[in-house]
Amino acid sequence: MITTSAYAAQSGTSPLAPFTLNRREPGPRDVQIDILYCGVCHSDLHTARAQWKGVTFPVVPGHEIVGRVVAVGSEVTHVAVGDLAGVGCMVDSCRTCASCAAGLEQYCDNGDITFTYNSPDKHQPGVMTYGGYSTAIVVDQHFVLRVPSNLDLAGSAPLLCAGITTYSPLRHWNVGPGQTVGIVGLGGLGHMGLKFAHAFGAHTVLFTTSAGKSADAKRLGADEVVVSRDAEAMAKQAGRFDFILNTVAVSHDMDPYLAALKRDGTLCLVGAPEHPSKSPDVMTILSKRRRLVGSMIGGIPETQEMLDFCGQHNIVSDIEIIPMQGINEAYERMLKSDVKYRFVIDLGSLRGKA
Ligand code: NAP
Ligand code: ZN
Ligand code: ZN
Repeated sequence: MITTSAYAAQSGTSPLAPFTLNRREPGPRDVQIDILYCGVCHSDLHTARAQWKGVTFPVVPGHEIVGRVVAVGSEVTHVAVGDLAGVGCMVDSCRTCASCAAGLEQYCDNGDITFTYNSPDKHQPGVMTYGGYSTAIVVDQHFVLRVPSNLDLAGSAPLLCAGITTYSPLRHWNVGPGQTVGIVGLGGLGHMGLKFAHAFGAHTVLFTTSAGKSADAKRLGADEVVVSRDAEAMAKQAGRFDFILNTVAVSHDMDPYLAALKRDGTLCLVGAPEHPSKSPDVMTILSKRRRLVGSMIGGIPETQEMLDFCGQHNIVSDIEIIPMQGINEAYERMLKSDVKYRFVIDLGSLRGKA
């Protein structure tokens, strides 16, 4: 076993605090990674605070992991010792169903996804998986991504969740030149959504509750900014949009965004709030054959495609680096929409304390 320093929440109401866990010794197909940086996703907070159902404590969050490969099993061909590597939201799936075979492991038909944290660990019966708020991780090579070496490493960490969660729906619904595309919410996901929609050539509009983020939004790729608390400005958006990606982390009224769609336009939900939003107005949907859809992270092949795209286009996340010891304060700021635009933990702050 590999003794590993970490931070864990022991209950939905206790702050994250130091914790020691054991990683398995790498098997033939496993990759052992020294974690250098881990992004802080709002899903970490939803889980650590037991806002979502089915949380088993202790929880070690973190699924935006980048680090250095330090050991590989005898059958590993995918990466070598010394390489940079990334791990996202999944560390295993059934591997046999139609969705897994299609590289869409996140939609596994057998519901047999092992998430990076808070899933039963197939390798350690009775133990849950523990995520990237830790100094090391051991993962089957299928779920290990290659991180382009030309990118800023800390800024690459959020690509493993915020990046792929926005890249995948924008690609799936063919966002590109000639289209008007909205991104709702300028947080971790939203700022990556702006960068990708802009890079794909769409006319990109940010919807935000925070008027103070306008200048940053334009720097990040927005052509226009609409303050969603301004009812008059929202009314002017009616019928304009081909596609809107909604990243908001709390329940809210979706009708103004549905009304902003053109005929046959699509509102895609990726935010996963604790409480359900009110049911959207049916007449708004059917009167223009509008679509309301959802999307969850992205499969492993598409995650690699996204990382390679970022390497070619020099796209990384705009980040604020924090020590592991600053995580509870970072969560409080996240709850106030005060993230510019992703916290990334420097795991150097935990080393030498195992
Ligand atoms: P985040 O950094 O906290 O950003 C969320 C943004 O939502 C905020 O920055 C804020 O942007 C906006 N917002 C906050 N309160 C709002 C309110 N009352 N009304 C309207 N907008 C509000 O969170 P994140 O890490 O990007 O994650 C966003 C959501 O996506 C979370 O629920 C997370 O669990 C989920 N998620 C889903 C997937 C998936 O696979 N589908 C993957 C990762 C995360 P403004 O200040 O600009 O309004
Ligand atoms: Zn995430
Ligand atoms: Zn499957």
